[in-house]
Amino acid sequence: MNIDRLVILGVGLIGGSLALALKRAAVVTHVVGWSRREQTLLKALELGVIDQAETEISKAVQGADLVVAAVPVGAMEALFKRIAPHLEEQTIITDAGSTKGSVVEAARRAFGKLPSCFVPGHPIAGVEQSGVEAAFADLYRGRRVILTPTPESDYTAVARVRAMWEQCGAKVMEMDVAHHDEVLAATSHLPHLLAYSLVDTLARMDESEEIFQFAAGGFRDFTRIASSDPQMWHDICLANRDALLVMLERFSGDLTQLTEAVRNGDGEYLKQAFLRAKQARDRFCG
Ligand code: NAP
Repeated sequence: MNIDRLVILGVGLIGGSLALALKRAAVVTHVVGWSRREQTLLKALELGVIDQAETEISKAVQGADLVVAAVPVGAMEALFKRIAPHLEEQTIITDAGSTKGSVVEAARRAFGKLPSCFVPGHPIAGVEQSGVEAAFADLYRGRRVILTPTPESDYTAVARVRAMWEQCGAKVMEMDVAHHDEVLAATSHLPHLLAYSLVDTLARMDESEEIFQFAAGGFRDFTRIASSDPQMWHDICLANRDALLVMLERFSGDLTQLTEAVRNGDGEYLKQAFLRAKQARDRFCG
């Protein structure tokens, strides 16, 4: 495949890493970047992530083959509204947002209907750093990308977006929008919320200075993702609120049972729960 003019809207970790990976694979001729702040665009140019910086979004998308929206999910609708009047017939649009129901609804509202050239997507890859400085070409190698085409999505547009991610070394699969949001609520959104919550609880204790001094490997492993961008996770938790609430209620019920087991000295309950968890983690995470 070759992409003549790739446009990245939001040149941060995800959009920047995509541009770098496609450049390295030599499948893109020209990368145009648009971002909210000019300093981001200057940095992206300096790092060789993009070839051209555009501060006017109408100019950025002009003549584009592929447009990738890589801004926080809460900013997608406003972005789609801004590009809607300027899209040309040949242009394919995809996104990298962590929630899919909210992005599809944002597109429906912004474009008036779901365009056939729109293929929603989500790379299951990331690190806790954000911004274009954190972008690297290998981010997607061996990682999964989930596409959630809508009934309106054109077959050839889906194939192009799939090929784009495969060129980054990713394994691409397709999923129904609602199912994507349920699965990600369980595997990503709930864990992030729990990590933030634990660190916040400890940070607000009077002895927090001392507690953090003694935080060792286990604490660091469990809470690494609490260093992720708060604005991004604020957007995700609200955008996927229904599916996240289902998981939070389920988890709260299990936590209450564990609390009761600790209170009652029910070692057998604890051992069985820990054993099930260890076996599951060893099987799935190797
Ligand atoms: P990031 O590194 O913080 O980059 C975000 C980009 O969006 C920046 O270019 C920023 O522009 C721009 N932006 C921020 N707020 C905006 C707003 N209100 N309006 C317009 N543009 C705005 O974030 P990221 O990690 O690349 O995440 C981008 C998308 O990928 C998000 O939808 C996220 O859910 C999704 N995603 C993230 C991960 C992850 O682990 N990080 C994984 C998979 C998917 P300026 O720099 O110019 O301010």
